[in-house]
Amino acid sequence: MNTQKKFTKQFSCEFFPPKTDKGAENLRTTLAELAELKPSYFSVTFGAGGSTQEGTFDTVKEIQGQGYAAAPHLSCIGSTKAKIRELLDSYIAIGVNRIVALRGDMPSGMRETGEFRYANELVEFIRSETGDHFHIEVAAYPEMHPQAPNMQKDVANFARKVKAGANAAITQYFYNTDAYFRFVDDCEKHDVDLPIIPGIMPITNYSNLKRFSDMCGAEIPRWIGKRLESYGDDKESIIAFGEDVVTELCQKLLDQGAPGLHFYTMNQTGPTRTLWHKLGLNK
Ligand code: FAD
Repeated sequence: MNTQKKFTKQFSCEFFPPKTDKGAENLRTTLAELAELKPSYFSVTFGAGGSTQEGTFDTVKEIQGQGYAAAPHLSCIGSTKAKIRELLDSYIAIGVNRIVALRGDMPSGMRETGEFRYANELVEFIRSETGDHFHIEVAAYPEMHPQAPNMQKDVANFARKVKAGANAAITQYFYNTDAYFRFVDDCEKHDVDLPIIPGIMPITNYSNLKRFSDMCGAEIPRWIGKRLESYGDDKESIIAFGEDVVTELCQKLLDQGAPGLHFYTMNQTGPTRTLWHKLGLNK
């Protein structure tokens, strides 16, 4: 039985920090438009060791400054306890009380793993340094993290993050609801008792989606890939098909008890807003 049903449903949106002035301007517009949907919060991604780390802080500050709740992603690989403590302090200072805690991936060229090896150690550190100040979300992989030796070990490792003090989880995106519900069942066997919120990637472009999915280990089912491929440069057909497929996916997830949805917006209003309206989440 799916115990996820007992949690209050929560809907959130994810941004990445813009790299250019034009990108920043675009994000301001997207933020204003998506804020009308009243998501629970906006999360902002973080690049391990890269230049987007400051971008995350600045974007989070801007979102908070406009009166909306923001949750920075924080990855620990290659970092030190002192640096993470400093970042936590700077987020506390601007009123942030949510964090998406991750291991992250080593940037190419970087060798030292730093003082943290896995996300469970980061969650433990945040709790030991700041108590219950932060609502902590962690990452979950219904189709298995690409570096995990097998699904059972990956679920056991996921359970470690939960036991270290996470409040909720957001999944990698997927297009197969069975993977999600099977993962939830496996988690229950490890006494995991927190909301596991499906991450939703709208479909708007096949080549980008394929490249990204290959990188992060998300499967595009053959029937979806074949159809998208057949549309070639016909953007309208790709978007219409993508809307249908992803709306159905979200509806099935919600009907069967998923405790909300987290939208990977790619800093665009259109795809997320369309899904939101089609699902009637604004009512
Ligand atoms: P972990 O939970 O540490 O897991 C990583 C691997 O190690 C897994 O294979 C796991 O099975 C194994 N493992 C975990 N703990 C242990 C342990 N104690 N002992 C042995 N093995 C263990 N990346 C970014 O760079 N920036 C972002 O902003 C970002 N946001 C994300 C948001 C979401 C919702 C998701 C799903 C992913 C995001 N990622 C982001 C990608 C993420 O950083 C990568 O998938 C990364 O490879 C793993 O991070 P994690 O926190 O899941 O790691």
